[in-house]
Amino acid sequence: MAKIVVKTPLVELDGDEMARVMWAMVKEKLILPFLDVKIDYYDLHLPHRDTTGDRVTVEAADAVATHGVGVKCATITPEPGRVKEYGLTRMWPNPNATIRARLDGTLFRCPILVGNIRPAVSGWKKPIVIARHAYGDVYQNAEIRAGGPGRAELLFTPEGGAPAERVLIQEFGGPGVVQGIHNTDDSIRGFARACCAYALERKIDLWFGTKDAVSRTYDGRFRAIFEEVFDQEYRQRFQAAGITYFYALIDDLVGRVMRSAGGMLWACKNYDGDILSDLLASVFGSLAMMTSVLVSPRGHYVYETAHGTVERHYRRHLMGEPTSSNSLALIFAWAGALAKRGELDGTPEVAAFARRLEQAAVTVIESGRVTADLVEMVEPRPSRHLSTEEFVDAVAAALPPPYSARAARGSTVTRVWPLSYLGPRYSARGPELSQGGV
Ligand code: NAP
Ligand code: MG
Repeated sequence: MAKIVVKTPLVELDGDEMARVMWAMVKEKLILPFLDVKIDYYDLHLPHRDTTGDRVTVEAADAVATHGVGVKCATITPEPGRVKEYGLTRMWPNPNATIRARLDGTLFRCPILVGNIRPAVSGWKKPIVIARHAYGDVYQNAEIRAGGPGRAELLFTPEGGAPAERVLIQEFGGPGVVQGIHNTDDSIRGFARACCAYALERKIDLWFGTKDAVSRTYDGRFRAIFEEVFDQEYRQRFQAAGITYFYALIDDLVGRVMRSAGGMLWACKNYDGDILSDLLASVFGSLAMMTSVLVSPRGHYVYETAHGTVERHYRRHLMGEPTSSNSLALIFAWAGALAKRGELDGTPEVAAFARRLEQAAVTVIESGRVTADLVEMVEPRPSRHLSTEEFVDAVAAALPPPYSARAARGSTVTRVWPLSYLGPRYSARGPELSQGGV
């Protein structure tokens, strides 16, 4: 069988631990047998980041900026324990933060819906998409451990000789901690535009919340820029599309989302999005049941997983014990990247393959063949779970001809959710903007 040709190189960012193990399986069994794809490979495995002085992470981000589309495996963010475990020369920064800081942009995260899992929040009738601002705040912070009594201040020195601004943070009477964070008007504006464009494209309401009642200047700037972008660029188009922009304090908003029927784009500041996307994924089954894509304001895309390296499973894998890790988010990351590559290259056969791959993976889950994380969630409850590798093999077998030697097997369970629940624009695919969307 002739392989499908992918025109432009795809940037691959390999990662760590169990995610790396699954990554290799997915690539070997679900991608390379079917596609003739030139891969621009960057190994973000922690020891290699250490050997290259983390240059590899920066080069990978730049390669995404060159080629336009990347696919990223989960990576370890070093902390003191990891420095010891891997004998690192330094506690290298979070690679996701490095990449996001270089490319800027917004992460769109969407639960992967399957017919035989009911969301744990029974009121949610429609999917909620999270838009997580991917620049700044605590992810690019500067921190000091104050060793004892002393004065901590914020100091801003403007270029061009204007007087410096100085604000007291705290007069310490004893030891403590201090943190400095930042954001830029440009990045916040890009975030606001990406959210408005996405909501308009999908015709869904946009909700946004910050803590501007407490953080009047910092969070207040987010609120003001969103209002400015909405008023000046989107108000009329939203009205014409019959959708709304809604702002509330973040704590109020969380309660309202829980009581809602879902169906909105929920714009979150960086940290809020980090926390709330894990919560959302879990409501829909597992951390592996969510897609995540970074969309930069210049139209670059990094498809990734919202979950991490699944360290606990990796420890078992290293001991030679069987594992049952869910590769669905990884499969969707590859599929999302390929679909986008197909769209940008004008090669619909590549995008069609990506869609078939997603469908095959969903079909396997809907037939009740699932990894351990989903056993308690799917209806009817399966009698056993698949191993990590069995799941990938099942997806390969479910790829319809000409992709698979074996015919695809259809769903054998009654759908708990009618497919109409997904809506016409919510096939099993993850969210993404068409190129002109941002
Ligand atoms: P994690 O890797 O997301 O895993 C947390 C737990 O969630 C797992 O122990 C497992 O639960 C469950 N889980 C997550 N993904 C799963 C999957 N695909 N299949 C089945 N179960 C899954 O988070 P973590 O253990 O806190 O972090 C591990 C490492 O990942 C850390 O070094 C962190 O820095 C890194 N991280 C990377 C990224 C990224 O690169 N995108 C994101 C987050 C964290 P059970 O053990 O109960 O089965
Ligand atoms: Mg996270």
